[in-house]
Amino acid sequence: MTSKLPKGKGSRAKLREYFTHHVGEILDSDVLREIAGTSEWARRVRELRNEEGLNIVTHNDKSDLKPGQYVLINLKPLPAFERGISKETRAFVLDRNGFTCQMCGAAAGEPHPYDNNRKTRLHIGHIIDKSMGGTDEPNNLRAICSVCNEGASNLTLNRPDTIKLIAQVRRAPAKDQLDVLKWLIQKFPKQTKELIKE
Ligand SMILES: [Zn+2]
Repeated sequence: MTSKLPKGKGSRAKLREYFTHHVGEILDSDVLREIAGTSEWARRVRELRNEEGLNIVTHNDKSDLKPGQYVLINLKPLPAFERGISKETRAFVLDRNGFTCQMCGAAAGEPHPYDNNRKTRLHIGHIIDKSMGGTDEPNNLRAICSVCNEGASNLTLNRPDTIKLIAQVRRAPAKDQLDVLKWLIQKFPKQTKELIKE
């Protein structure tokens, strides 16, 4: 590869152009470094994703990618909702929501229940959309995974209420019920001990 790329164009712009001409292709870090012409290329890629909303994924999002590989999934920009939200608010909302997608229940970092090739990546979404007057306050924010965010999981928007939830568990096979029990014990160790004493 030549390093004689046109001068006078920012490295971010060069990367943007390269990505948008190679949608859906796996791009290696060597190539991206060359295109950007700077050791800061990875930061520029992050900016494309976080500031410009380019839907660029890595091995953290797709398990069939190796570290150092990047793919621009499509040209549909990621929603802008996260860009104005502080790191602190983001951390607070994720913690409050137990690092779990509030639409489908997928847990951060684990394979997505509806798309096992993807690790669950959580975003912060608005409960009442900003276009409908919703704010960036934590009480209007919730954790949403990228699959739900893209509308790829066709689950209902509403969380099941307790009655529906118990009905679901009740009709599940015993093995699945035990998995639910183990998960709950792990999540609520203190409460479990107290319940056993009673
Ligand atoms: Zn989800």
